Order: sequence, then structure tokens, then C-alpha cells
Amino acid sequence: MTALFINQEFLFALLGIVSMFALVVLSFTLIIKSQQIKQLNETVNYFKNSLEEMDEQAKLIVRTDLELNKIQEELDRRINGLYALQRISQNLSKTLEQNEIFSGLNQECIQEIGFQKMLIFTKSRTDKVYPKHIVGFTEEDIEFIENEFTNEGLYDIIRERNSAISSISKKENEQDIISKTANATKLNAFIIAPISKKEGFYGFILLGNETPATPLTVGDEELVAILATQIGQALDNAELFETVYSQHQELEKKVAERTKELTDALSELNIVTKRKTDFVSTVSHELRTPLTSIKGYASILLSEKLGKIPAEIKERLEKINKHSDELTHLVNDLLDIARIESGRIEMKLEKVDINHIAEAVVDLLGPQLKEKAITVEQNIPKDIFGLADSTQISRVFINLIGNAIKFVPEKNGFIKISNFEAAEGILIKITDNGIGMSPTDAERIFEEFYRVDNVINQKVKGTGLGLTLVKNIIQAHKGKIWVESKLNEGSTFNFTLPKAEEKNQTEK
Ligand code: ADP
Repeated sequence: MTALFINQEFLFALLGIVSMFALVVLSFTLIIKSQQIKQLNETVNYFKNSLEEMDEQAKLIVRTDLELNKIQEELDRRINGLYALQRISQNLSKTLEQNEIFSGLNQECIQEIGFQKMLIFTKSRTDKVYPKHIVGFTEEDIEFIENEFTNEGLYDIIRERNSAISSISKKENEQDIISKTANATKLNAFIIAPISKKEGFYGFILLGNETPATPLTVGDEELVAILATQIGQALDNAELFETVYSQHQELEKKVAERTKELTDALSELNIVTKRKTDFVSTVSHELRTPLTSIKGYASILLSEKLGKIPAEIKERLEKINKHSDELTHLVNDLLDIARIESGRIEMKLEKVDINHIAEAVVDLLGPQLKEKAITVEQNIPKDIFGLADSTQISRVFINLIGNAIKFVPEKNGFIKISNFEAAEGILIKITDNGIGMSPTDAERIFEEFYRVDNVINQKVKGTGLGLTLVKNIIQAHKGKIWVESKLNEGSTFNFTLPKAEEKNQTEK
């Protein structure tokens, strides 16, 4: 029994120890567990915080992304707007007519820059405000807007301001004009920009939307301001073009008038010249027959075939003979001038040796040259050939060398005949050291009957027709003739003739 009792005590003690031990273990376990739970809690909290932070970050990213998208959209809109503006500007710069400038600013074009409606207001010369160009507004709208703008004096307020105004402006001094414009145009969003020309304010452009897809920005304001500047420049160009064009038209009209006047004057002159030529030819012709008879009769009488004649009568008959010779000469010159002028004498153009013609004429005039002991120098290359009528060119040389002989001094007279190849053909020069002439006379000596009033002309008779004939002959060869002269020093008569063939010759 005691054993059993001891055993029972022992068992209780053991149980107690075990329980104690179990309690201790349990407490430890609990402590450990609670520590673990605490740690877990901390971890959970940490994760929870992290998750919250991540959520915040994610929200921020979404927000930023949305904003970025918006910015991107705005940027795209701005870029498209700028492209559209560039296209509009290009068209405006190409346009030189005012109407075309405005018709180019159509619905499609304003839509490209993000607007539905447009108005361009200006003032007439009588100071009346009126819409110059309308897109998207009805006639009724316009009537209302026009009245409102006039009554409220909006046009002049905008004119004075002379800078862009828009419905997004926050400036206090612009609120009144913004609400009045919104009221007049019934637009929620709009931009007004002044159009300036070189000589000042032209008017303004208003672009707007009833309900904008996207709110207006400062960028839109800038865009419209640029467009307004471009319109102003295009209007200036058109005005300049119009001025230049009308001046050009005026000039063309004047040129046409003058040309007509000149053509009329020329045909009048041709008629008069023809009449004169016809008259001269007829008269000269009519004179030739009696002159031939006079000279014939005088010659018969002088030959004394009809009987001897007394000395005084002979002397007079000789005078008649001499004068009829002079008269025949004059009549012949007149007839030739008239014939060449009217084209009745055709130049027989052939390859001629200019040197040969000049030499033959110097030979022909040899006695007169000898009589005055004149030195003649010929400087003509041997193989320069002209395309000319040799008989007529001989007459030219006879007249020019004949005149030179007349006007050079006796004994130390000098005549030089030279010849050059020139751009216009052959250039022939006949130079003398004669009496020369003043520039005024030099300009007139080719006129019919013109003779310089000098001592030699007072002594020696002449008709003043020789140089006219020479000029007509040269012109009939499509050449030119002119004189270079100095009073009391000498003269050089220059004339050109067409070349017969190309030679690399210059003056020899
Ligand atoms: P004309 O010899 O019959 O007077 P021309 O028509 O041949 O008529 O000449 C017109 C005028 O030109 C001459 O009267 C003369 O005054 C002037 N003239 C022509 N050749 C010369 C010259 N070589 N030197 C000076 N004057 C000249």
C-alpha cells in the first residue's frame, strides 16, 4: 500500500514536474510563437506598406502616362497645326490677287488648324465695318455680328489694342471685350489677331469654335497671330503686284499709243517722201529734155557749122553750154537720188576689189590731184573684197575724193584712203587735211542741198547733193556713212560695206 502510495506521490510529483516542464516548454513555445507572429506581423505590415507604396507608384505612373498622352496629343495637334499653317503660308505667298488670298482660306484649311469658323473684318474707305471673308457663319449670324461689332465699337477697340486676344485670356482688361465677342459670335472659344499691312491696320481675323474638341492654348494664339501676319504680307504683295501690273498695263498702253503715232508718222513720212521723190523725178525728167536741146543747139552754134559767130556771142554760148552741163549734172544727181530712194535703182551686188575701184578713181581724178599737188596715200589691203555695185561705189569714191580735193590746201594737201576689216564688214576711211567743219555742220552735210557756209564754198559752185547721193548708195548696200571732222584740221569720211568673203586681214 505504502509502495502504492509512494508510487502515487512519485507519480504526482513526476506529473507535476512533467507538467511544469510542459508548461515551461509551452511558455517557451508560446513566447517563440508570439515572437514569430510579431515578426510575421511586421513582415506583413512591411509588405502591406510596400504594396501601398507600389499602388501609389502605379497610380502615379498611370497619371503620368495619361498626362504624357495628353501632352503627346497636344504636341501632335500643334505639329499638325504648324504643318497646316506652313501649307497655308506657302499658298498665300504664291497668291498675287486679293480675292485668291481669301478664297484660299476655306473651311478645309481652317479645320486643319483646329477651327470651325472664321471671319475677317475690315473697314471700307467710307469707314464702314464689314466682313471681308466668312467661313462657317450663316448670313443671319453675320448680320448680328456686324451690328454687335459696330454698336459695341469692338472693331475700334481691337484696332487700338493691335495684339492677339483669345477667350482663354486671364487678363482683367480683356474680359469685357472677350464676353462681348463671345456674345456677338456665340463662340465659346475664339482667337482674334490683327492683320497689319505696310501702311497700317487692315482689319482682324477671328477664328473660333462653338464647342472646342480640345481647349485652346497659348500655342493656338501664336498660330493665329502668325497666320494674320502672313495674310497681311500676302495682301501687301497683292497690292504691290496690282500697282506694278497696272503700271505695266499703263506703260504698254502708252507704248502702243506711241508706236501707233510713230507708225502713222512714218507712213505719213513715207507718203510725203514718195510724193517728193515722184515730184523730183518728174521735174528732173521734164528738165532733161529741154536741157539736152539747149545744150545741143548751143553746141551746134559753137561748132560754127551754121556760120561764123562773133566772139561775144561765142563767149555767151560757151556760158550756156557750161551752165547746161552743170544743170544736167544737178538734174542727174536729183534723178539718181530719187531713184535710189524709191528703190528703182537696184544695186548689182558682186564681189568687188575695193582697192581696184579706189585706184581707178584716183587715176580718174589724177589731173585735179596734180593741179593742186596733193599727196595721196592708199592703204588698202590687196585682197579685201566687198559685196557691192562697182559703178555705184565708184561714184561714192568720186564724190568723197572729189570733195577732199576741193577742200584741202594747195601744195601741201594730203588725202589718205584706208581700209579695215570690221565687225560690220569693210570699213573704208577717206581722210584729208582740208578745211574741216564744225560738229553742227558735220551732222547736216548729208542732207539734201546742205552746203557749209565757208570761203571755199563761196568760190566753188556746188549743189549740196553729192553727199546725199553717196549716203543713199551706201544705205542701199546696207552700209553706214559718217564723218569725223575738226574745223581747220581736216575730215575723215567713214563708210561700211558688206564683205564678200572672210579673210584674216587687218589694216596694212
Ligand atoms: P557740194 O560738194 O556740192 O557742196 P556735197 O553734198 O558733196 O555738196 O557736200 C556738202 C557739203 O559738205 C559741202 O558743201 C561742204 O561744205 C561739206 N564737205 C563735204 N566734203 C568735205 C570735206 N572733205 N571737207 C570739208 N567739208 C566738206
